[in-house]
Amino acid sequence: MIDIQKIRADFPILNQTVNGKPLVYFDNAATAQKPLVVIEAIEKYYKEINANIHRGVHTLSQLATDAYEVSRNTIQKHLNAKHSYEIIFTAGTTFGINLVANGFAALLKEGDEVMVSHLEHHSNIVPWQLLCERTGAKLVVITMNDEGELNLDEFEKQLSDNVKVVAVNHISNALGTVNPIKEIIEKAHKVGAAVLIDGAQATPHLKPDVQELDCDFYAFSGHKVCGPTGVGALYGKEEWLRKLPPYQGGGEMIAEVTFEKTTYADLPHKFEAGTPNIAGGIVLGTALDYLNTIGFENIASYEQELLEYATEKLLQIEGLKIYGTGKNKASVISFNIEGIHPYDIGTIVDKLGVAVRTGHHCAQPIMQYFNIPGTIRASFAFYNTKEEIDIFVEAVQKAQVMLS
Ligand SMILES: *Cc1c(COP(=O)(O)O)cnc(C)c1O
Repeated sequence: MIDIQKIRADFPILNQTVNGKPLVYFDNAATAQKPLVVIEAIEKYYKEINANIHRGVHTLSQLATDAYEVSRNTIQKHLNAKHSYEIIFTAGTTFGINLVANGFAALLKEGDEVMVSHLEHHSNIVPWQLLCERTGAKLVVITMNDEGELNLDEFEKQLSDNVKVVAVNHISNALGTVNPIKEIIEKAHKVGAAVLIDGAQATPHLKPDVQELDCDFYAFSGHKVCGPTGVGALYGKEEWLRKLPPYQGGGEMIAEVTFEKTTYADLPHKFEAGTPNIAGGIVLGTALDYLNTIGFENIASYEQELLEYATEKLLQIEGLKIYGTGKNKASVISFNIEGIHPYDIGTIVDKLGVAVRTGHHCAQPIMQYFNIPGTIRASFAFYNTKEEIDIFVEAVQKAQVMLS
């Protein structure tokens, strides 16, 4: 069960007015708000521990290193990875995907294929396009249907021994579709392809089990799971992390450097060049602990309630169309109102205190599929309420009246 009053008290930012109205924050798919434990942990780190990690013999450096590695273990347990050295600290999902795509440049050749889906965020498209340009590999797209679901039958036909990598998101940020990634991973593995899962949008709503999924890579961002920006994690199966070359060169990632030859540090440090976002890394663990205290089952069932409630209320508005009507959805609603530009609605509801995202949501191919410039996207978190949805729906209705 969700104790909503208690939870909202954890998020000071929610308790304010915007444009003279109580803030209704429905842009959680872009970034989540931070609970006090996270804000305080950042302050505590800089007030009491700040030192560089893995380097000093001095006490503070050890404290910082220990806290950083404790967080790595927290992430390992959270994702149920087999080894803590399979967890690489990154700057976020984008960084993690680029790390993997860059590594595959050493393994691909002309004629190989890389598959992404029509539902991807640009950060799970462009790094693979860059890889294809460098290697002569071909980018192949897994198609979607009008509900915003991937066509698995067609995917199976597209698979061949040429496919070396399949990169799909666990949940679509633009439509909310929950993809059947276990099935996708299984099918891709039959032809020997590695599978990267973009978990940026899934990790705020569910607890992935990378061993059960059997994915080869799983990337996510701290800031979408109530943690800080500029930090994230990449899970990689040990055998793949050993196969891929380092992404960046620098301090921290080496075993020995001479001008003739440099040998690399063991996992995970091989992929962690330079001084990282130490506070961010430590506090990412704090954020996951916080979410686990609330419980992902509680989060998921509460958010589903919000999703159903909002969907039903929005559909009562004349001319409103929801994009992404698949059976399996997270608490994201993308929609438009006939004859009105999404940006105009976004601007008016903001004046009424409601924060939503408008535009293409970094997923232009989805907008091209539906032949629209963009959508209005409301995305709910476990700290949102039905009362907020009422305010939001009323704001959309007001905007509709003003704009038509
Ligand atoms: C937010 C998001 C990303 C990008 O995450 P960054 O934190 O900007 O690196 C990638 N994919 C999906 C599905 C997302 O929602």
